[in-house]
Amino acid sequence: MTGFMGTGKSAVGRSLAKQLGYPFIDTDQLIEEQAGQTIAEIFNHEGEAVFRAWEREIAQELASRRETVIATGGRLMLDPENARLLETNGRVFCLTADPAEIAKRLRSEGSKRPLLAVPNPEERISDLLAERAEGYARFPEVITDGKSIEEIVMEIQHLMDKKIIDVKHPNGRYNVLIDSSILASVHEFGKIKGPLAVITDSNVGPLYAEEIPADLLVTIPAGEPHKTLETVNQIYSQLLTAGLDRQGTIVALGGGVVGDVAGFVAATYMRGVDFVQVPTSLLAMVDASVGGKTGVDLPEGKNLVGAFKQPQAVLIDLATLSTLPESEFASGMAEVIKSGLIADPQLFELVEKKVNQLNNGARADLAWLAEIVYGSVEVKRVIVEEDPYEKGRRAVLNLGHTFGHAVEQVSEYSIRHGEGVAMGLVAAAHLSAALGFCPVELETRISEVLTSAALPVRIPAEFKTEDIYLAMASDKKKAAGQLRFILLREVGDVFVSDQVSESQVMETLHHCGAS
Ligand code: NAD
Repeated sequence: MTGFMGTGKSAVGRSLAKQLGYPFIDTDQLIEEQAGQTIAEIFNHEGEAVFRAWEREIAQELASRRETVIATGGRLMLDPENARLLETNGRVFCLTADPAEIAKRLRSEGSKRPLLAVPNPEERISDLLAERAEGYARFPEVITDGKSIEEIVMEIQHLMDKKIIDVKHPNGRYNVLIDSSILASVHEFGKIKGPLAVITDSNVGPLYAEEIPADLLVTIPAGEPHKTLETVNQIYSQLLTAGLDRQGTIVALGGGVVGDVAGFVAATYMRGVDFVQVPTSLLAMVDASVGGKTGVDLPEGKNLVGAFKQPQAVLIDLATLSTLPESEFASGMAEVIKSGLIADPQLFELVEKKVNQLNNGARADLAWLAEIVYGSVEVKRVIVEEDPYEKGRRAVLNLGHTFGHAVEQVSEYSIRHGEGVAMGLVAAAHLSAALGFCPVELETRISEVLTSAALPVRIPAEFKTEDIYLAMASDKKKAAGQLRFILLREVGDVFVSDQVSESQVMETLHHCGAS
């Protein structure tokens, strides 16, 4: 546990240690014991530098421990070397609280800290928090205001069980919770206070909407053809009729279509209201619900109008996958496999191990599902944090998509997105191998795992290489850019290239089945 003084590190740490049956160590206390002086005495007699040296020594000593709960002094983890040491072998959580709450807690503890002796302690705490914000930001945050010690401990246990991913964005951060049978907890998890409107579609609504206590339910017809401005208009009218104001929150309950439409509504209705994602398709869980992109299609093309709108929270209820049609599940698996290929070899192997048992119960294996969803969201988190507005690095998320989109387009969308991505992943691997960047075996390996996930890997021969190439080029013309490919070096290692020649692309399309 790290964080500012008065955020509850020791109380929470002690309670967590008790729950886990681990010993508890408070670094300040340990230093006092070892030095035979209080911290104030060390500061007064020997100076801050000596105290920081003690801290470094303690950090080194504690870094090799296992099964121990540690509460650190407020600044110990702001030293990058200490942070590195303790992060290597353990999980670090940063407790935070509002400055007023911190001042209140310190006063009630009867603290005589110099911090409280200034005319305006809250302002001083605020300033110090701002100074330290960057250092603390590297750790997952646990907000402690208004929560009991038990609630905070439970939240940390969720984080430790890999149930929560903390995503940062330019204006703040939000949590992604991965669990099952948790729809009823939307208010609590999404920190929803005002009225709540659930937006869902005609397939998902009848199955799950009832589980979320809401003031208003808006149901749109299911499917991509309804991801339009017309649907958005109809939703605006229903929200206005029901009197939803700026205090309201919109919850998107459904697949990527609902998430994109409801997110766009939340970004624009009354110039923006709070928004919580409750994705129910595998694709929406592992991809669409994280990263803040929302929008709708125009007759001229997909996703041409939209906005960046970060959710307050993403609540992933794995139990909802039990009703997802098989082909939609496969579509989501294409994105999971893509995530492994982009940045997580372990995730890729996890899929390889289990995917051929998909029809023998893997889909009902919630622990496995939790791991693949966690791994995929984590891959996406790292990339969107680095590139929140899709200016660079985020391009790697399009692995397989340059080929995939073009095939989808040429098929007039009779080939679904996940299927196009699957064909595209194999094509990207072939192209990478043909250019000498990866071994040829990688193409076979990718092809096998996709096939086990019930995805097609060959481009149907009825589609012509020239037409697919033209579709790619016209897509790029719209974006006024170079034809760009994401290439593989190995599983978990990709890079962007705009140096691929037309003949290499044509050869790849031909090899992958196009005529
Ligand atoms: P979708 O929303 O159309 O869902 C697929 C189908 O499954 C729909 O018929 C839906 O009603 C149904 N469904 C969803 N959850 C269900 C459940 N639990 N039980 C039964 N049926 C269920 O499509 P999708 O594949 O989820 O998402 C595709 C959309 O996501 C596309 O519009 C794409 O552009 C978008 N997308 C957005 C992002 C982003 O970053 N915003 C990323 C990837 C994809």
